[in-house]
Amino acid sequence: MALIVQKFGGTSVGTVERIEQVADKVKKFREAGDDLVVVLSAMSGETNRLIDLAKQISDQPVPRELDVIVSTGEQVTIALLAMALMKRGVPAVSYTGNQVRILTDSAHNKARILQIDDQKIRGDLKAGKVVVVAGFQGVDEQGNITTLGRGGSDTTGVALAAALKADECQIYTDVDGVYTTDPRVVSQAQRLDKITFEEMLEMASLGSKVLQIRAVEFAGKYSVPLRVLHSFQEGPGTLITIDEEESMEQPIISGIAFNRDEAKLTIRGVPDTPGVAFKILGPISAANIEVDMIVQNVSHDNTTDFTFTVHRNDYDKAHKVLATTAQELNAREVVGDTNIAKVSIVGVGMRSHAGVASRMFEALAKESINIQMISTSEIKVSVVIEEKYLELAVRALHTAFELDAPARQGE
Ligand code: ASP
Ligand code: MG
Repeated sequence: MALIVQKFGGTSVGTVERIEQVADKVKKFREAGDDLVVVLSAMSGETNRLIDLAKQISDQPVPRELDVIVSTGEQVTIALLAMALMKRGVPAVSYTGNQVRILTDSAHNKARILQIDDQKIRGDLKAGKVVVVAGFQGVDEQGNITTLGRGGSDTTGVALAAALKADECQIYTDVDGVYTTDPRVVSQAQRLDKITFEEMLEMASLGSKVLQIRAVEFAGKYSVPLRVLHSFQEGPGTLITIDEEESMEQPIISGIAFNRDEAKLTIRGVPDTPGVAFKILGPISAANIEVDMIVQNVSHDNTTDFTFTVHRNDYDKAHKVLATTAQELNAREVVGDTNIAKVSIVGVGMRSHAGVASRMFEALAKESINIQMISTSEIKVSVVIEEKYLELAVRALHTAFELDAPARQGE
């Protein structure tokens, strides 16, 4: 008999009919003998609706009160599921974050979980009940309701699994697992049976939005086996694990992530002297702008060009800050480009294989795609290219690294 934490996302509990379906599913697991803790999101669209209500009162809602409002979405779904389970003869009980006591810090709208009291839940499980817990919310030391940031129910699920030392944390959603890349871009994309936490973090932070990044970090830190599955289709899903078993069949690259949300800024002709990088990026970070990739060129005539990328939403702000810096440094000019995209290959196999980056560059060269910037880490190589070549690049790389699904007959 296993203890499983199951988390169902907003679309999976988006209507009463869906909640009834979730109840059927939970009942099946229960009948198979598993102990179950079920974490729910609000109905899809509900959290947005609640935020929108708050914004009709104030452009910048008071964070504490916003948490009081947005935490109600999950309170609705947990009670409905508990009722649906009881209707099916399955004993169940629902709890808000406060009732369990999911203790968080006081950072409203982006709180962190500090501690979970597992006593009540354990007692209920012992009594044969399915315990249904509101995702996304907690309570601080003073008893204020807090929330964990958008997508935070994933983190609730993982944190509960860690606290209860559950055998698995299952994240049910509207896709049947984690894919080698976005199937809307590459029809040959394949579901991965397994991916490591590290790879998943890279994939998630690069824009494969299956799981909240914090949930993946949490699961890695506490070694919680995590599985992504489709709510209403059968299938093994994707298991996110710690072990990097080396096998002959293991591909070097697990996936290809991409991101259209960045923009590039270059300051030309800055003096190549100590402290210049700081003079350029100091004001950028003081303006609360996050920088992703950074490239500084080799200097000629004691001046150099300095290029970095920021989120596209921050582009105008960064451009202004940089223009001021350019005057101070007597730089030649500031140029920018918002029509860029970042493509990354991700895989722990890179650690033990040479030539991965050059294979990537070869594949892009064959398609005559110019690489504007490159950055690497132990398990990732990223390039910035012109946005219009993004899909071509992802497809070429998917093929070059042998990630394409075998063609089915008739295709
Ligand atoms: N309901 C919250 C949101 O929409 C939390 C979640 O669904 O994970 O962000
Ligand atoms: Mg989600």
